[in-house]
Amino acid sequence: MTERYNVVVIGAGPAGYTAAIRAAQLGLKTACVDDWRNAGREPVPGGTCLNAGCIPSKTLLESSELYAHARERAAARGVQLAAPVLDLAAMMAHKDKVVGELARGIAALFKANGVAWLPGRGRLLRARQVEVAGHDGAVTALAADNVILACGSAPVELKDAPLTGDLIVDSAGALAFAAVPRRLGVIGAGVIGLELGSVWRRLGSEVVLLEAQEQFLTMADEQVAGEALRQFAAQGLDIRLGARVLGCEADAASVTVRYQDRTGAHTERFDRLVVAVGRRPATQGLAAEEAGLLLDEWGLIHVDEQCRTNLPGVYAVGDAVRGPMLAHKGMAEGAMAAELCAGRAARVNYAAIPAVIYTRPEIAWVGKTGQELKRAGVDHRAGVFPFAASGRARVADAAAGFVKVLADAATDRVLGVHMIGPQCSELIASAALAMEFGAAGADLALTMFPHPTLSEALSEAALALEGRAIHAAPAKRKP
Ligand code: NAD
Repeated sequence: MTERYNVVVIGAGPAGYTAAIRAAQLGLKTACVDDWRNAGREPVPGGTCLNAGCIPSKTLLESSELYAHARERAAARGVQLAAPVLDLAAMMAHKDKVVGELARGIAALFKANGVAWLPGRGRLLRARQVEVAGHDGAVTALAADNVILACGSAPVELKDAPLTGDLIVDSAGALAFAAVPRRLGVIGAGVIGLELGSVWRRLGSEVVLLEAQEQFLTMADEQVAGEALRQFAAQGLDIRLGARVLGCEADAASVTVRYQDRTGAHTERFDRLVVAVGRRPATQGLAAEEAGLLLDEWGLIHVDEQCRTNLPGVYAVGDAVRGPMLAHKGMAEGAMAAELCAGRAARVNYAAIPAVIYTRPEIAWVGKTGQELKRAGVDHRAGVFPFAASGRARVADAAAGFVKVLADAATDRVLGVHMIGPQCSELIASAALAMEFGAAGADLALTMFPHPTLSEALSEAALALEGRAIHAAPAKRKP
């Protein structure tokens, strides 16, 4: 028998669970299908972000930072501690507890909103029919007025560094090491490489990152990327740019990596190797041939600005469609798709998607980078305020980095905000809000920020657009 729904969502990650909850809030009879199972083989919602990405990595980043702070910096602030002892098992148990609680939270939200959660593998058939292969082997047939595809992404694998499950791992494996590797290799110095490299560096590993590109963090503003490279090097992260991996050999306890850079061929031996070279859409097997779903050559589902696929009534959101692979972008798309299913108007502002790298210092941005504006020939001004001039950053002994505001030279409209420094993951929200409201640099400069806070750096950077930051000497002062 076929079960009928107004909306069937395939995938219960941030994009999918947001779509399902919002659709149910709008009075639509909604089911959400997901086949993720945790280490105990129980079905859990939350997808990669909650179970093997954002949440576990942030838990380990917070915990490892606490350890590094106690070990390296507390004494200078007048807190003498006996040498802190790392209990990695307890740190991992805390992470698993947080993940478990949050997954149960999503399941509870499904229940409270009346979303039918159907554990199993969903597959789109023709005419908005969905087949669910349950974990018990039973197959359920669903039919829906609308289907929202939110199948997420999976790590890209490298043929020159095939995963072994213990020595050569992907990001999920690197969130669950049972011991601190003495020497950790990471292929890819992108977001995941830097975050996971930071965790294990703080816990005592010697960390080497092999990055294929000659330039560091190409998606960030160049000035921010330059500062980040300096800060990470000072922390002992050994980042080797222009490094092309040629092959890996694993023995019982270590991995030898061969790579080439501008200076020639090299080999390095590591206790563990993490492959973090990007993610690809997890669309394989998502739709039957008969469904006629259009994918591009990378497996991304083809969608328009409002996440409509080529099939009537079928939407696709999150990592499986164009745009940055970020949980909050997927959530915004999921909510938009649900609204559209309910016949309401909805849009996502793709020009104001914040991005964050949760290292120390944190890196965050929204809008265009300086180099993007330059390439597009947009005449703009930059206002920069260093955290060294922020009282609150000094108080926290975290004065490295800066905030940079980019504004249109003619209209003063804010085109981008870039930050590296303490709590930038939180500070960037004000900049996203400013851009969402189409703020000018002068609007930010006129807004009153509480003193002493880190957030003042944003208004000071906006003042610096006019050469009139109060707490930092400008190159040229205007009246
Ligand atoms: P990424 O694109 O950020 O970085 C991958 C890096 O690997 C790039 O710098 C690339 O040049 C390099 N690379 C690719 N092939 C290589 C090779 N053969 N040898 C050496 N280097 C190579 O991808 P990621 O770090 O894997 O993250 C995947 C996705 O997940 C990204 O879209 C990211 O935005 C998202 N993510 C976001 C967060 C966050 O928001 N804080 C955290 C983790 C992941």
